[in-house]
Amino acid sequence: MKTSLKTLVLTLLLALSLGSMAQKPERPYGLVIHGGAGTILKKNMTPETEKAYREKMDEALGAGYAVLEKGGSSIEAVKAAIVIMEDSPLFNAGKGAVFTHEGVNELDASIMYSKDLSAGAIAGVSHIKNPILLADKVRTDSKHVMMAREGAEAFAKEQGFELVDTQYFFTQRRWDQLQKVLKHTPEKPELSEDEAKNSKFGTVGAVALDQDGNIAAATSTGGMTNKRYGRIGDSPVIGAGTYADKNCGVSATGHGEYFIRAAVTYDICARVKYKAQGIQESADQVIQDKLVEMGGDGGVIGLDAGANIMASFNTEGMYHGWKTSNGQSATKIYKGE
Ligand code: ASP
Repeated sequence: MKTSLKTLVLTLLLALSLGSMAQKPERPYGLVIHGGAGTILKKNMTPETEKAYREKMDEALGAGYAVLEKGGSSIEAVKAAIVIMEDSPLFNAGKGAVFTHEGVNELDASIMYSKDLSAGAIAGVSHIKNPILLADKVRTDSKHVMMAREGAEAFAKEQGFELVDTQYFFTQRRWDQLQKVLKHTPEKPELSEDEAKNSKFGTVGAVALDQDGNIAAATSTGGMTNKRYGRIGDSPVIGAGTYADKNCGVSATGHGEYFIRAAVTYDICARVKYKAQGIQESADQVIQDKLVEMGGDGGVIGLDAGANIMASFNTEGMYHGWKTSNGQSATKIYKGE
């Protein structure tokens, strides 16, 4: 009798502890991406082109989300999503990057991880197929945060990266864009105002929250068409183009000179932290008020520790989309969509 009571108590205790393990609250997780902001108007888009953008965004979201679903880290998720967009000629990053004034491609990228506030960035590289992977290598395997040009490529070689020929980045569309911009003068306008604005944008970015509650943010770009003198924009600048802490992660796209001066991504996360306000409200204050007053075009995407998705842009459009464990998913392009 005594023994069976003991067994009963033990069984009950075991059942209770198993029950509490099973009840471990499931954390929400998710991913949000962008493929650049600009004067993107439905009237200028063919149904085929629109479909191609949405399909590529879906593919990138699917790849990043699959990592999160399996319990992988947000860092691996943002890299998986970005590599797909870097490999696509649709976006101004990796294959599809815009040309500099001298007719070459100079790529910038950055990545940040909330878990330890580690960050890595590269600027002005011309032989790296997937700049986001090299930015992450700077984060994990160097003492530095940012490396540029030949130095960054020497580091890449040491780390076993394959350097690609500059021809890899050639696309006719971006080449023609540069030729038009080069011929464009106020007296002889080769570009419409929309085209002039559009020739600048198309950067890609991703922000993810994983099942352990860690946020990662990443951004990759070819910069701006016709850039000169080793110009570097906001995309590889931590706090301007990319930022992630435990409350908030943001990736930006737009006219880099303004985004650097406005410290856009850090400012948004600082508002979330110090003003204890939502990420959408914080982003709108920076993108719709502060940047507009300065004259800066562009947008941001991001999420917070509860997997609440944010997107804000002051241009006609921004390629963006998200997928979360709360069952939200979308791809969007135009203002008001
Ligand atoms: N922010 C990038 C830069 O200024 C351009 C872009 O987002 O399209 O280099």
